[in-house]
Amino acid sequence: MTEKEINLFLVPTPIGNLKDITLRAIETLKSVDVILAEDTRTTGMLLKHLEISRPLQSYHIFNEHKAVEKLVDRMKKGEKFALVSDAGTPAISDPGFLLVREVLAEGLEVQCLPGPTAFVPALVNSGLPNDRFVFEGFLPHKKGRKTRIESLLEETRTMIFYESPHRLMKTLEQLAEAFGGDRQACVSRELTKLHEENVRGSFLELIEYYQTNPLKGEIVLVVAGKNPKA
Ligand code: SAM
Repeated sequence: MTEKEINLFLVPTPIGNLKDITLRAIETLKSVDVILAEDTRTTGMLLKHLEISRPLQSYHIFNEHKAVEKLVDRMKKGEKFALVSDAGTPAISDPGFLLVREVLAEGLEVQCLPGPTAFVPALVNSGLPNDRFVFEGFLPHKKGRKTRIESLLEETRTMIFYESPHRLMKTLEQLAEAFGGDRQACVSRELTKLHEENVRGSFLELIEYYQTNPLKGEIVLVVAGKNPKA
């Protein structure tokens, strides 16, 4: 069987520790015609560090609807692209899905490389059951927030949320009210960075902890499902 030509690679980039870039990610970034970046400055710095010099083009939530059609046309003419986000795996709570869907619809080939993403280490570090889990990404900030939380009341799988530091307390309090204060959870902060911290406990214990401890940096919240098996 001959290997299929890949038109679009999704390339994960480090979520903090630059050593987490994979050899294949470097090789792929060097091999494409154009690198699509959520933020060309952030990616430019990473490429400089890796001594990679490829043309960069901006691709983010504000232009992705418009950009998709043109990019697919260029792929049909033979150009090869890599998509990267600011950190982690593109399309995971980041732009990418629209492009992947359109590329596939046009019969072209997509390949996502395995690599850094925040939710996997957070889930495993939590010590909560990980044989089955559900990735919830960011909760809606306002509209639909209550309904989303209510939809999870009977969820028995471990749940993973992305959260910002200034909203974490509110989220912990709302989830404690909905799921009960003794539900177990884990807050993973600054994963792979110098000050990585994983704090495990009930919602009430976590709320108490963050009343006196600094709450900054990037955060993943992992929450036990209802009546998880031992
Ligand atoms: N595409 C990324 C991925 O694969 O994880 C996620 C991008 S999303 C815009 C950013 C969110 O991911 C942050 O708000 C935080 O919830 C989580 N995150 C990213 N890096 C992290 C880190 N080093 N430690 C903890 N959470 C992180």
